[in-house]
Amino acid sequence: ATAARQSLKIGLIPADGIGKEVIPAAKAVLEALGSDIPKPEFVPLLAGWEVFTRGGNALPHETVDALKECDAALFGAVSSPTRRVTGYSSPIVQLRKELDLYANVRPVASVAANPGGKPDVDLVVVRENTECLYVKQEQITPTENGREARAIRLITERASSRIGKMAFDIALGRPRKQVTIIHKSNVLSVTDGLFRETVRAVPALPEINGAYDNVKIEEQIVDSAVYRLFREPEIYDVMVAPNLYGDILSDAAAALVGSLGLVPSVNAGDSFVMGEPVHGSAPDIEGKGIANPLAAIRSAALMLRFQGHTVGADRIDRAVEQVIREGEVLTPDLGGTSKTQEVLDAVLKKL
Ligand code: ATP
Ligand code: MG
Repeated sequence: ATAARQSLKIGLIPADGIGKEVIPAAKAVLEALGSDIPKPEFVPLLAGWEVFTRGGNALPHETVDALKECDAALFGAVSSPTRRVTGYSSPIVQLRKELDLYANVRPVASVAANPGGKPDVDLVVVRENTECLYVKQEQITPTENGREARAIRLITERASSRIGKMAFDIALGRPRKQVTIIHKSNVLSVTDGLFRETVRAVPALPEINGAYDNVKIEEQIVDSAVYRLFREPEIYDVMVAPNLYGDILSDAAAALVGSLGLVPSVNAGDSFVMGEPVHGSAPDIEGKGIANPLAAIRSAALMLRFQGHTVGADRIDRAVEQVIREGEVLTPDLGGTSKTQEVLDAVLKKL
């Protein structure tokens, strides 16, 4: 949603599991775009569980330092340990903090030939990514009647306003231009009330200069939003939500279109964007060469879109759409028998 940049230095962090199989596919697609984008320069970087087991740090300092010199990044997936491991914390969560990636943006759209999916879904979940219950300030205290646990939920005007702007900007670039604010202010009138009021007030801010006047604002209580998401997902365009509701909504929305192997996302801030497929490291299919690379490829397109390289992003999205619609070259998660490499080749051919 910003002006197109001239340089394109992209940090590549495949990390673990099938991340190492799908990120190279996304890289190959970016390389194939030719003059539609500035010539990309790729910087291979380490993070994740595997590098943690070798050096005791899931996000080496060199990776963070190198990323600060990049324009954007693509992240694969991390394996999470099944039990708590001392010293291990998710590199994605740390990266969001280090690079101030305050928004998680997940477009979810139905595609033809996808047996698990619903038709007519075309929405974007814009999730605030820095506060709400994720400030992780929890306490447990003994009382006369047993222990009592509390958590702090932080909502600020600053974070609500910038996530609101992000949602309106995204809506402006879409045909329906509609933002639905998700909240629970009937119960949490102070915290969710502030979120709702702040997002609602964004179009009237002086610095916006009326730019969002054509965007329609709706709002919905989170529980009824989930119900309607399953009953009539076609009513939604851009949904903007505080962190926890956004987390739940974005996974629920991904389920609407079938395979996890299709859904892209970005973690975005004002000066950096990191593409990341929604799926995890998928240990059950790791090393078999059958991981669906389309979520990673679409994440690369979304990353380009956030950098203003709309032509390149559109070309990738169209190529992916065609491959899915034709239905001849699909990985097993979509009912096909093709390999990761064959799907990549099919996308490259369409490009
Ligand atoms: P993690 O702990 O890293 O999240 P996970 O076991 O939860 O690992 P996910 O990656 O979340 O695994 O995937 C859940 C299921 O979806 C797995 O059965 C996996 O094989 C499948 N899956 C996920 N991504 C893909 C993909 N890109 N292509 C094919 N199947 C996938
Ligand atoms: Mg998972």
